[in-house]
Amino acid sequence: MSVALDVRSPVPVTLDRRCLSLRVDPQEVLRFQGYKKGRDIPDATVLALFDEALALGESLMEPRFVYRAARVTGQGPGVVQADGEELHIPEIGRLWGALEAVGAGICTVGAAIEDRVRELWDERELPLAVMLDSVGSAAVESLAEYVNDLLCQAAIPAGLKVTNRISPGYAGWDTAEQVALFHLCPGEPIGVTLNDSCVMAPGKSISILVGIGPEARVDHYFTQCRRCWMRDCAYRRAPAAVTVRR
Ligand code: SF4
Repeated sequence: MSVALDVRSPVPVTLDRRCLSLRVDPQEVLRFQGYKKGRDIPDATVLALFDEALALGESLMEPRFVYRAARVTGQGPGVVQADGEELHIPEIGRLWGALEAVGAGICTVGAAIEDRVRELWDERELPLAVMLDSVGSAAVESLAEYVNDLLCQAAIPAGLKVTNRISPGYAGWDTAEQVALFHLCPGEPIGVTLNDSCVMAPGKSISILVGIGPEARVDHYFTQCRRCWMRDCAYRRAPAAVTVRR
């Protein structure tokens, strides 16, 4: 199913597995297991466990994404204002440049993976529990990359650029501003809630913010095109290395 996503949508848009054809990046799973790419080689026992957990995780995950955009009303070196919210993000003026809007989104792979991890702990199936937990973490990271690519693809026909995603709790952005992000884009349409400690439930969820505009600076920490499956994109900035789409 092709995805018609309006990157400037002022109302929440939700996507589910019918249009999120997600593939979990195996390297991400191993990274969550503590393996260093190109240096640590998992043995046959680990690989068998990995295959079992990946198949189980892919059968349990329910990828969902909710997104809406808000027009930017003010910008400074370390602040962006939109929809009455003030987001304090170090260096964001320099990193993202002039913005027309910000896009706020929340993605989740649902609660079934973590529910099964808990059951496996109770059954003392610890190696599988730990590997499945890593699959869940990798799945939601892969989903966040996937939707970042979707947003970039959706912006191009409108002559807009979309930056790399950032999240509260990373790169100096205070986790407490998760509340402001949820004001911009509530998680309720996809069943994601935020508690008083700014922790999301289900746990395998990621909130994202992207900058949008004709002058927005992209690739400030990662070349998004390396993950993107849009084969004939005239704007591609780097060859695709690995994609997170089936
Ligand atoms: S190839 Fe690059 S520029 Fe083109 S849609 Fe994908 S991420 Fe965007």
